[in-house]
Amino acid sequence: MVGQAKRKKISHRLMLETEERCIYCAAPPDTIEHMPPLVLFLKRQRPKGLEFAACKECNNGTKGADAVAALFSRVSHADRDPYWENGDGVTLRHTVDRDAPGVRDEVFDEGKAATRWMKGDAGVLVPKTVVHADGPLVKAYLDVFSAKLGMALYREHVGKPLALEGGVQTIWYMNSGLSEKIALAHLSILPIDGSLKQGSFTARDQFAYRYNCDEKSIFAALVGLNSNFHIFLIASSTPEKFMLPLSMPEIATTTNFLRPSQLVEHLASKAAAVGRLR
Ligand SMILES: [Zn+2]
Repeated sequence: MVGQAKRKKISHRLMLETEERCIYCAAPPDTIEHMPPLVLFLKRQRPKGLEFAACKECNNGTKGADAVAALFSRVSHADRDPYWENGDGVTLRHTVDRDAPGVRDEVFDEGKAATRWMKGDAGVLVPKTVVHADGPLVKAYLDVFSAKLGMALYREHVGKPLALEGGVQTIWYMNSGLSEKIALAHLSILPIDGSLKQGSFTARDQFAYRYNCDEKSIFAALVGLNSNFHIFLIASSTPEKFMLPLSMPEIATTTNFLRPSQLVEHLASKAAAVGRLR
């Protein structure tokens, strides 16, 4: 009988042998990339699935983006939440400091983090730290994470990596910044439900999405990560045909457009610009 671990090893080896290239660039793949990454799940308990072939450079070079996305997906709980005081939360903070140096300084900068009294779970007012995700480093990491997710889900639903001349347009929302009106506008074009499921083990409260796809050149989704982070994305192998990137004047947030092969370099150039060479 072949054990589960061994079966996984075989299927990963097969994936690396059969995938023509990294899902993020033109290089041949030599690692397995989980998207969304394990770091985003509580105690790294992640249902299997959504595993992809990636090259080592993209996989390692964008780890900081995974860590920052995991941090921000939970940041609304930052106060008086035991999550941040033990095991998982402490590990995540260390991971962010290691893989995305400078991010916590940028976000929790004394002058930027403000305390505001808000209604807590029990209906009483509790002090919450309002963090700002508008610094250049955080934006670069979350833009790259969103593009990664778009390229991974495109591979999953279209059946091949996003073309090198293709691209992903993303908009992300933090701190419940996704209004009901915008959510409904997005969801009206996204009829299909997606998540991760392994037998009866699901993690819908940590990762779920609604999507639409023509199964050949375009994929769109609204993705929810934990309670605090939503991403709207459109990935296409022929972006000019769909007039991407779209201008969205009704949406008061910046949008981002990245192509395959640009992810690692995008992070490096933004980090260099703020003096955080890695
Ligand atoms: Zn790559």
